[in-house]
Amino acid sequence: MAQGHNTRSITIRRMAWPAGESLPIGAPLQPSVVYGAESPDGLDDLYEGRAEGWTYAREGHPNAATLAARINALEGAEGGHVMGSGMAAITAVMLGLCQAGDHVIGSDQLYGKSLKMLRDDLPRLAIGTTLVDATDAAMVEGALRPETKLILLEVVSNPTIRIADIAGVAALARARGVKLVIDNTFTTPRAFQAYTHGADVIVHSVTKLLAGHSDATLGYAVARDPADRAAIAMASATWGLTPSPFDCWLAERGLFSFDLRYDRAEDNAAALADHIADLPGILRVLYPGRADHPESIRARDLLAGRYGNMVSFEVRGGRDAANALVRAMPNVPFAPTLGDIGTTLSHPATSSHRGLSPAGRAAMGITEGFFRVSVGVEDIAVLKEEFAAGIAAAHDVG
Ligand SMILES: *Cc1c(COP(=O)(O)O)cnc(C)c1O
Repeated sequence: MAQGHNTRSITIRRMAWPAGESLPIGAPLQPSVVYGAESPDGLDDLYEGRAEGWTYAREGHPNAATLAARINALEGAEGGHVMGSGMAAITAVMLGLCQAGDHVIGSDQLYGKSLKMLRDDLPRLAIGTTLVDATDAAMVEGALRPETKLILLEVVSNPTIRIADIAGVAALARARGVKLVIDNTFTTPRAFQAYTHGADVIVHSVTKLLAGHSDATLGYAVARDPADRAAIAMASATWGLTPSPFDCWLAERGLFSFDLRYDRAEDNAAALADHIADLPGILRVLYPGRADHPESIRARDLLAGRYGNMVSFEVRGGRDAANALVRAMPNVPFAPTLGDIGTTLSHPATSSHRGLSPAGRAAMGITEGFFRVSVGVEDIAVLKEEFAAGIAAAHDVG
């Protein structure tokens, strides 16, 4: 059959890649949505798990699988699944593991959208929820019900930098047959090996420190129990929580420098916290490695010296002082994210916590003068100068 030009342009898609003995050092990017099988028998083998391969990208694709394998290695886990965002990963855990009538406990200082999911969305699906102060395992124990299925915690809370009573809650969870889900985004596997501290399920916003360049939105979830892993992967495929291959490829590239970025950012954070603590106009600095942190001993026991890159602080004065501070440090992006390779500054009262009343924010210590810093890998001398200028400007106004 003679082929017209249009038809030829389609059939050449099926030509093989040039073969060779050489292996690429850079990771390949595979954006294909579908994968051809060799025969109906071959497709059967794929679906039944007798053969390795791909069918349709919503169910899985090579770039998601390679990224998941690398995060598995960091977490000491098996069978993790990469999804389209950190919230997609938390969604897959909730939809995959919970039924109507179940009950979920969460920390009252979870990431904002996790809080919203527990407060508003799971109850709409007849999954009961209770939010408690997770710095005290007795509060979590008081919230347990016979139908409690999961407890969702972050080790270090955002932006208040409080440390959850992980050991106490893990012991309770084990004794009562409740699954402990740890959102390890802030702490990362570098500071906190969640499985060894009793987690049954680990989730990540890969968007943050793991990918590290604010150019990919991704999440990851893994469970100890193979049935839970399968349920999470099925929820991801059914509810369409699929990650983009390009984002996975970017995150994989970011992950290669994760350890280096993390170590440098952590050193910077410790030095910056100590530097700003003594400046005029500073009311308090929150960093888990400082002796004046409210849970400094627990932080030492849980984090083994890996105190992370997140620092919060409060300056005297209201909104005017806050505006002056941000305007006096133009080289630090004022942006509500964390985990970028560069330092970013956020103001929870006008971003993550703007939905709360001023009284609700005050109860958490989030005043107009409260800032959260995600410290990056810059030269520490530059960071010290930049923050000293911002804090001095706030002091002049406040
Ligand atoms: C950002 C974040 C999330 C949500 O991740 P996305 O990738 O933005 O959906 C969840 N938990 C924590 C602790 C986060 O910081």
